[in-house]
Amino acid sequence: MPKTDMELTHRSPWELLVATILSAQCTDQRVNQVTPALFKRYRRPREYAQAAVPELEGLIRSTGFYKSKAKHLIGCARAVDERFQGCVPSTMDELTSLPGVGRKTANVLLGNAFGQPAVIVDTHVKRVANRLGLTRSEDPNQIETDLQSVLAPIQWTPFSQRLLLHGRYVCLARKPGCTTCVLYDECPWKGKLPR
Ligand code: SF4
Repeated sequence: MPKTDMELTHRSPWELLVATILSAQCTDQRVNQVTPALFKRYRRPREYAQAAVPELEGLIRSTGFYKSKAKHLIGCARAVDERFQGCVPSTMDELTSLPGVGRKTANVLLGNAFGQPAVIVDTHVKRVANRLGLTRSEDPNQIETDLQSVLAPIQWTPFSQRLLLHGRYVCLARKPGCTTCVLYDECPWKGKLPR
């Protein structure tokens, strides 16, 4: 399976939060094209909180859904600035209290910015975990629990990151790369392609 590097470019928890919000319905590559100018224009949460909406929207437009993403960024920035003294919080409850931040985004932050055990469940992890027989659920929260139950906490973040990348680059939704997949022999999925 691929290496576990986080593909979103960032230098701080706040930048990772911004990049993760922008990555919804968008590729990491596209986000990484947009963030250098964005991170140069706005640095601290307070600067995002005070941003002129049309300018912020213009900077993130190519990531898609830019109006709602701008709204979430400004809402998050205000909450981080006002409630957490400008520092991104590091607990699940606090993170998910931020506008537009759900468990998946919170787990990305916990696992990649704060070094805490966190199972990240996105659409790729959901698909691959089911195909590999690690869960039988379509519910992200249940999949998170199922993966937690079969892994040591130290493996939660790197393993889910590997599942994510495996789904993104090999075990594709419509045309899984079974013929070259290193997990072929272990994969119990009845729909896998013959070699
Ligand atoms: S064998 Fe095919 S279906 Fe199974 S994990 Fe590999 S790519 Fe996915």
